[in-house]
Amino acid sequence: MVHFVGAGPGAPDLITVRGQNYLAEADVIIYAGSLVNPQLLSLAKKGCEIYNSATMTLEEVLDVMYRAEQAGKTTVRLHTGDPCLYGAIREQMDALDEKGIAYDDCPGVSSFCGAAAALNLEYTLPDVSQSVIITRMAGRTPVPEKEEIARLASHQATMVVFLSTGMLEKLTERLLAGGYQADTPAAIVYKATWEDEKTFICTVGTLAQTARENHITKTALMIVGDVVSHSHYNRSELYNPRFSTEFREASL
Ligand code: SAH
Repeated sequence: MVHFVGAGPGAPDLITVRGQNYLAEADVIIYAGSLVNPQLLSLAKKGCEIYNSATMTLEEVLDVMYRAEQAGKTTVRLHTGDPCLYGAIREQMDALDEKGIAYDDCPGVSSFCGAAAALNLEYTLPDVSQSVIITRMAGRTPVPEKEEIARLASHQATMVVFLSTGMLEKLTERLLAGGYQADTPAAIVYKATWEDEKTFICTVGTLAQTARENHITKTALMIVGDVVSHSHYNRSELYNPRFSTEFREASL
């Protein structure tokens, strides 16, 4: 059995209870060492084999899983945040399917949630934005043309940009090309929920300068949109005394 487990964004107590139990029971742990907090490994039982996937290829990771399975062992594949975002889990799952090895997926707190928490942000403010676009700049992994940043920016919805800290000049250029104003509020959140977390409020026009001045080159998310400044929004209808809901009668 292989459990894919979301480790959460960084703080070790942000893993789920289920994920924590799987880690404690695992005979083999393969963790994404570039981003998973190594403190989580202290949950492993004595004698657990631990591998850091940062130095391994897909084939090597699979080989560890195959050998564990043959020996009747349980493996945890520990991914940062939630495995469903930029986790490269599908290729592992397809390979396990081919071998008839059972697996499941235990969700985690994604870093885009950790980043919102770091800034006490609500991404979906009434009358500002009701959608969150999670995306990235093209890097070694290409981004389909139809999802190019300028095209997504044209929606003016809240955007959270992963994996792009080294490309902020280009990111700003594409956001402006998509119709954002240079003074649109933006934020950079570095290592959300880690002890050395840093948050910077800036604008679409000053993303690159902000990162440069603060020496932020990786492990950061860029958040774009008016929800960052939350200077205007309407209160929720759900909690409005003038409206009845399934659970509450209107009182005004
Ligand atoms: N599955 C992960 C994302 C993996 S991709 C998730 O759900 O969060 C790796 C990218 O995620 C990094 O380049 C960075 O953009 C972002 N990231 C991961 N952890 C982060 C953190 N604690 N703070 C800010 N960004 C983070």
